[in-house]
Amino acid sequence: MSLALSGIGVSRGIAIGRAHVLLRGSIEVLESVLPEHLIENEVERFLQAVHNARLQLESLRERIPPGTRADIAAFIETHRLMLDDATLVKTPVELIRERGCNAEWALKLQRDAVVEVFDRMDDPYLRTRRDEVDHVINRILRILLDTVGNDPHSDADTLDQAIILADNLSPAETVLLDHQGINGFATAYGGPLSHTAILARSMQIPAIVGAHSLQQYIRDGETVILDGVQGVLIAGPDAATLKHYRERQQQEQQRRLDLGRLADTPAVTLDAIPITLMANIELPEDIQVVSKASAGGVGLYRTEFLFMNRFEPPGEEEQYEVYMSVIEALGGRPLTIRTLDMGADKHIGGGSTHGCNNPALGLRAIRLCLKDLSLFRPQLRAILRASAHGPVRMMIPMLSNTHELHQALSLVNESRNALQRESHAFAPDLPIGGMIEVPAAALSAADFARHLDFLSIGTNDLIQYTLAIDRVDDEVTYLYDPLHPAVLKLIRMTIDAGRAAGIPVAMCGEMAGDPRYTRLLLGMGLREFSMHHTALQEVKNVINRSTIATLEPLVSELLDNTEPGRIPGRVDSLNQDLH
Ligand code: PEP
Ligand code: MG
Repeated sequence: MSLALSGIGVSRGIAIGRAHVLLRGSIEVLESVLPEHLIENEVERFLQAVHNARLQLESLRERIPPGTRADIAAFIETHRLMLDDATLVKTPVELIRERGCNAEWALKLQRDAVVEVFDRMDDPYLRTRRDEVDHVINRILRILLDTVGNDPHSDADTLDQAIILADNLSPAETVLLDHQGINGFATAYGGPLSHTAILARSMQIPAIVGAHSLQQYIRDGETVILDGVQGVLIAGPDAATLKHYRERQQQEQQRRLDLGRLADTPAVTLDAIPITLMANIELPEDIQVVSKASAGGVGLYRTEFLFMNRFEPPGEEEQYEVYMSVIEALGGRPLTIRTLDMGADKHIGGGSTHGCNNPALGLRAIRLCLKDLSLFRPQLRAILRASAHGPVRMMIPMLSNTHELHQALSLVNESRNALQRESHAFAPDLPIGGMIEVPAAALSAADFARHLDFLSIGTNDLIQYTLAIDRVDDEVTYLYDPLHPAVLKLIRMTIDAGRAAGIPVAMCGEMAGDPRYTRLLLGMGLREFSMHHTALQEVKNVINRSTIATLEPLVSELLDNTEPGRIPGRVDSLNQDLH
């Protein structure tokens, strides 16, 4: 019998495949006391499990597709090397012999001891080692307990074309899973604006979040259909249902092909106003699809993904090389490099946030960079050096007061001076912009505009912070509303402030890539949109059928009479002739 579960579709497309249930967290282990004559057997059983874990990791490493970032392989290799470490192997053997306990219990005792040491560390990168220890220990435990491979680092064979079902996925894990060829994923929790959902859209993996009871009802290995448009997950589908969804899959492919034909058409309104359409990227390799989609450049490069799934932050040289490769691939089109926006749902290394109750309001983005100059300085230097080789722009995220901006600008100057002394080339007039994503910044956009070369509105965070809704919490997703009068006022203030200061204003949040809002934003005066590459042609299609001279008075009237209940209907009527 088939079963349907609903959630929130966050990345369109239909995936059909085998369910792979990710069970994580700590694995329940009980202590047993062994008779003397079984102790050496237990040691042997433990060593065999370690050996099997090593084989799994070697097989995983060998199956990494060519072209995958080198540090992904390094990450897996580090897990393998951990299995050679006396802390994880020798000590549990001693514990089995000393206490006469089972291997699982000895491993658990050792895990607790190691984790306690890591938890006392201040350095965020070192702390992520704690999560790595957990991954490796859980791998051995699963082998001991004879359960199937259950984490994103498990054998690639088991994940190729699988549909992942998990309680939640971090952005770092999503990157690793994508490299293992999954067809789609569904999570029990998470919101449509989480970076995990944003990644799914950019990687074109169909995805659902907020399907609460999925792990309770769907078994590992079952055939499932994931409908990322309707947010439906169907387990054990019958032949008719499968046929229906295969047809829908083909229609979706056709839709993509049709839109792809617009790639070489410029984005110009009917009254001949050119609009700049840029792409958002997370990983340097995204640039290939962006080039195919003919974006005008990159309006947001989320550099924090370079800092995930690894144990050390990338140094200046590595970052410089990566930025250079993106500049080269863009062939003269602008690249907007956002400085590190780590924190909230994106964690250094890929682990979890430890000891922070409210990470979205905590030490995130520019706040973290200003606190930890060992992270910030190498990045500023790498961006400046890269600016000598192409049209680079630097963009600072999550500014909430001009003091932060002045501090950041003075660090940029300091780096410029140092690079000059060291005879490194850089563009002296590198444009520096700020993201407007905190209500306080939107309200003081005019102050920011005085000191910056451009502004970019990050609506994902602007909406999160204005409406007080955690973007990763599906329980409050219903409150997400880009058309809330307060949000529209803040967007309008920012666009007006940029115009008054004579600097460009872009939008790079998900709202920019939603064709339902394109005309509204054009009418508000927005001329630069940056979005995940899959949305580019749809938005262009709307732009090319719009007349700004007609939209402006309509939108102005709409904004001046913001009776909340009427806004969605009035925005719909702007789009009427499109349907
Ligand atoms: C935003 O907040 O809208 C944005 C573009 O940044 P991010 O989604 O990476 O937080
Ligand atoms: Mg943001």
